[in-house]
Amino acid sequence: MKNLTTDIETGWNFDNSYSRLPKSFFTPLKPTSVGSPKLTVLNNMLARSLGLNTEALQSKDGIEVLAGNQVPKGASPLAQAYAGHQFGHFAMLGDGRALLLGEHLTPQGERVDIQLKGSGRTPFSRRGDGRAALGPMLREYIISEAMHGLGIPTTRSLAVVTTGESVIRETKLPGAVLTRVAASHLRVGTFEYVAKWGTAEDLRMIADYTLQRHFPNVNDGENRYLLLLYEVIKRQALLIAKWQLVGFIHGVLNTDNVALSGETIDYGPCAFMDTYDPATVFSSIDLNGRYAYGNQPPITEWNLARFAETLLPLLHENQVQAVKLAEEALSDFVKQFHSNWLVGMRAKLGIANEEKEDESLIEDLLRMMEKYRADYTNTFRALTFDTPEETVLFDAQEFKEWHMAWQGRLGRQKEPKTAIRELMRKSNPALIPRNHRVEAALELAVKQEDYKVMQQLLTVLSNPYEHSAEQIDYSKLPELANCSYRTFCGT
Ligand code: AMP
Ligand code: MG
Ligand code: MG
Repeated sequence: MKNLTTDIETGWNFDNSYSRLPKSFFTPLKPTSVGSPKLTVLNNMLARSLGLNTEALQSKDGIEVLAGNQVPKGASPLAQAYAGHQFGHFAMLGDGRALLLGEHLTPQGERVDIQLKGSGRTPFSRRGDGRAALGPMLREYIISEAMHGLGIPTTRSLAVVTTGESVIRETKLPGAVLTRVAASHLRVGTFEYVAKWGTAEDLRMIADYTLQRHFPNVNDGENRYLLLLYEVIKRQALLIAKWQLVGFIHGVLNTDNVALSGETIDYGPCAFMDTYDPATVFSSIDLNGRYAYGNQPPITEWNLARFAETLLPLLHENQVQAVKLAEEALSDFVKQFHSNWLVGMRAKLGIANEEKEDESLIEDLLRMMEKYRADYTNTFRALTFDTPEETVLFDAQEFKEWHMAWQGRLGRQKEPKTAIRELMRKSNPALIPRNHRVEAALELAVKQEDYKVMQQLLTVLSNPYEHSAEQIDYSKLPELANCSYRTFCGT
C-alpha cells in the first residue's frame, strides 16, 4: 500500500471534513489490497462532471486507486460507525465492507463522498469478509445509474473493478470493488449510533455537521435542529414519492439505508415492479413484506420517527415539549408524501390543474391495473401514446368507462393535446431496468467478461423519457412474466 505522490493527473481533490469529527464517529483505515485489479466499467460522464480525467482513471495508477491498492493524495480513508434498525431491530452496524476515501470537491464546488464498496474487512465487519461479488456491484451500478436517468436522487456509480480474487458465497464468485459517489453517507443510523453511544456534545456536533453539509440555508436563529428534522422529512417525502411513481422497490429500508441527503442509497435487493401490485416484494429475506412497494411510505415514516427520537435532546430542554415538536414534524411526512405523489400522478395522466375528484380517478385506474394485472410502466406509456399494449386491462368495460371519464377530465383544462402528451411523455418513462434485462446483462458480464449488453442497457436507461423504439423494446416483458423474481442482499 503506497500513497500516490501526485493526483494532478486524475484530478482528485480531497478535503475530508468527516475525518475531522470526533474519533468515535469512525475508524481510520486503509483499504486491503487486492491481487490483480482490472477495470470493467467506468462512468465517463460522471467522471468528467466530477472534474476527473478519464484517461488517468483508466491508467494503472488510476485503477489501483479504484481497487483500493493505492490511496490518492489528500484522501483520508476511514470506516464510518453507524447503527440502525434492521427489520425493526436495533443493531450496531458501521461500514463492514466499505471505506470512505474522503470528500472530493468538484470544479463546481460540490462536495461528494467517494466510497469504495468491497474494499476489505473493517472493525465493523462482524463475521463478514469485507468483500463484494462482481454481479451485485454491477447491479448497483446499473440500477443507480438508471435511477439517475429517471431523475431520482441517488448515489452514483463511478467504476467497478474486479479484484482477481474470489469471494466465497454459496459458490465461488469473482470479487469486485465499486466506487460510489454520494452527497454524503450520513444516515438515520449515524444519528442512532451517536444518540445511543455518544455524548450530548457529539449529538450536537453531528447535527451541526449535517446542517452545514446538506442544509446550509437553514436559519441559525430559530430551532435549527427542528428545522433539520423538517428538512430531512421533506427530502424523504419527495424521494419516496418519486420511487412510488416509477415502481421502484428498495427492498431493505432499514434505518441505516436512509440517507439524510435524500438520495437513494444501498442497492441490495432492490428491483422495479412489473405488474402493478402494492404487495410486491422481491427480496428473499423480506418474508413478511415489511418493505413491499405499498409499505414504503409508512415504513419511511417509521424510519423518520427513529431519526426524530435521536434529535429529542436537541429539540427542547423539556422532553415532553420535544416529543410534541417531533410528532408535529412527523405528521408532515404523510401530508408531503401524499401531495408529491398526487402531483406526480396527475402529471402521469396529463392533468395540469387540480380537481377534487382527481384522486379517485387515479385510484380507480390503479385498482383496475391491480385487478387486471397490468404492467405499471407499460400502462402509463400506452396511455401517453394511445397505444393498445395492455389489452386485458384496456378491453375491460370498466376501463373503457374510466377512459371516457379521464378524457372528459383532460377536456376540462385549457392545455391542448400536444401539451398534455408532452407532460405525460416526460412523466412516464419508456422503460425501467427490467429484471430479465438486468440479469441477462449481468450473466454475460460476470460469466463471459462481455460487457457489450450491459453497456447497451446503460445507454438506453440513461434517458428513459426519450421513448425511442429501442427503449420500448427494452421495456417488453419476458415471455413468461417473471412473477417469482427474487433478489438477494449481502453478496
Ligand atoms: P446492508 O444490508 O447492505 O445495509 O448492510 C448491513 C451491514 O452489513 C452493514 O454494516 C454492512 O457494512 C455489513 N455487511 C454487508 N456485507 C458485508 C460483508 N461481506 N462483509 C462485512 N460486512 C458486511
Ligand atoms: Mg446499508
Ligand atoms: Mg448493502
